[in-house]
Amino acid sequence: MAGVGSGSESFWGAGGPPHPGRIEYRLMRESVVSQYRRGRLGRLDVCDAQPELLRVARNVGRETTTTCPICVEAKLVHVSFAFGPRLPSSGRALIPGEIGELTRNEGEFACYVVEVCTKCCWNHLLRMFTVGSQGRTKARRRTTPGP
Ligand SMILES: [Zn+2]
Repeated sequence: MAGVGSGSESFWGAGGPPHPGRIEYRLMRESVVSQYRRGRLGRLDVCDAQPELLRVARNVGRETTTTCPICVEAKLVHVSFAFGPRLPSSGRALIPGEIGELTRNEGEFACYVVEVCTKCCWNHLLRMFTVGSQGRTKARRRTTPGP
């Protein structure tokens, strides 16, 4: 379609623009792990998962192939929590694939992905992102000029 091009596609490259509201906590995680390995943090400082988090991790957590960086024995489990309209204020643990359900609902949801080791109780926030219909419906309402 020739016409008034914004040029934004080439600017962002093939991957498109970065997701708004998506925050990665990987660097923070690496920092905690390296401090533990250098002895600046004790095992009790980093392996402090609450019993509730461990329970959720065992029940609805998604198993990964990543080995726990602390005990180097068990595989890590990813647990996703969502906060938003019609959800409890303490958030709700999502079963795998449930994020897709949320995006069909109205409103915006904040999702947090936490990695957990159910063996040594290591846990760390991996990333936070928002899902929801608000921004998307606005973007799609761009009206195309008629003939
Ligand atoms: Zn572990």
